[in-house]
Amino acid sequence: MQKSQIHSTIDWDKPGKQHGHLYIPYSYNLAGWANLMVPVTMLKNGAGPTALVLAGNHGDEYPGQVAILRLARELTPDNIRGRVILIPCLTIPASKAMTRLSPLDGKNFNRVFPGNASGTVSEMLAHFLTTVLFPLADIVIDIHTGGRSMDFVPCATMHLVDDLAQRRKMIEGTEAWNSDIAFMYADVAGTGLLPVEAERQGKIVITTEMGGGEIVTPAVHRLTQNGLRNVLVHFGVLRGDKAPRPKPVRWVQALDREDYRFAPESGIYENLIECGSGVATGQTVGLIHFLERPDREPVAVTANAAGIVIATRGPSLVTQGDCVACIAHDVPAEVLG
Ligand code: CA
Repeated sequence: MQKSQIHSTIDWDKPGKQHGHLYIPYSYNLAGWANLMVPVTMLKNGAGPTALVLAGNHGDEYPGQVAILRLARELTPDNIRGRVILIPCLTIPASKAMTRLSPLDGKNFNRVFPGNASGTVSEMLAHFLTTVLFPLADIVIDIHTGGRSMDFVPCATMHLVDDLAQRRKMIEGTEAWNSDIAFMYADVAGTGLLPVEAERQGKIVITTEMGGGEIVTPAVHRLTQNGLRNVLVHFGVLRGDKAPRPKPVRWVQALDREDYRFAPESGIYENLIECGSGVATGQTVGLIHFLERPDREPVAVTANAAGIVIATRGPSLVTQGDCVACIAHDVPAEVLG
């Protein structure tokens, strides 16, 4: 692949703690030689695995950004065995604008992998991850939430990767987040995802959906911060004792396209089911109302099969084709090994 144009002020081999930046070149009307500066903190201490810890893949997903900022401030090299690379926010302009997509190039950062060395800002950063940071890493952690568009039962998540040894390590790491529910998901909305490229490179990839919506509850912040620390302890990168599980984990999956329920028409969405609640096959999970047509009955969105509602629509206004609910089902024991 082409060489990255991104300049890093971090020395990836140097022991100790460094705060630095990735400089991504770009231009705007008032600055021809501008750089988007992406903060990176690295801690290295002796031999051990490398964990790459990421948040702000989507700008409007804040709990992971807070959790990583906290680690960046608090960790010292003697807390570490190996190396931790912390990037609190991959898409800073989107985080500042409270948007999912980058306002600089309109890209969804989680759809631009493996990236492009001479592409837009998002594509250049994805290419840098693909060619420089993923090859350094053993474990890749990408902390998501539902952003403003979806609300999730706070859960650690993963893809069902084909390689069984990789899958086993990912299951154990996902469980170490200590969320009550762990979720196996499918990609129903495009390709070019960050975890898919990291998985393709054989990395142990841990992702999350830490709630969603505009409000982040204290419980979600706590779960994000404690879960991240516990996963790092689990993999031996962070020294300390693993926290015990508060509850046995419940593994659920939504691997069928039909598990993802889309608005058949535009209108006002009335969510009828609490996130995390059980539903029966055919049960109405929400209604779409038509402000301009009081004579029309609302249109029902129904559950394709029995399960739990793992995610629901955030904003009440929906456009035809928006995902309004995701129904998850218990994972068969044989998949978990
Ligand atoms: Ca997300």
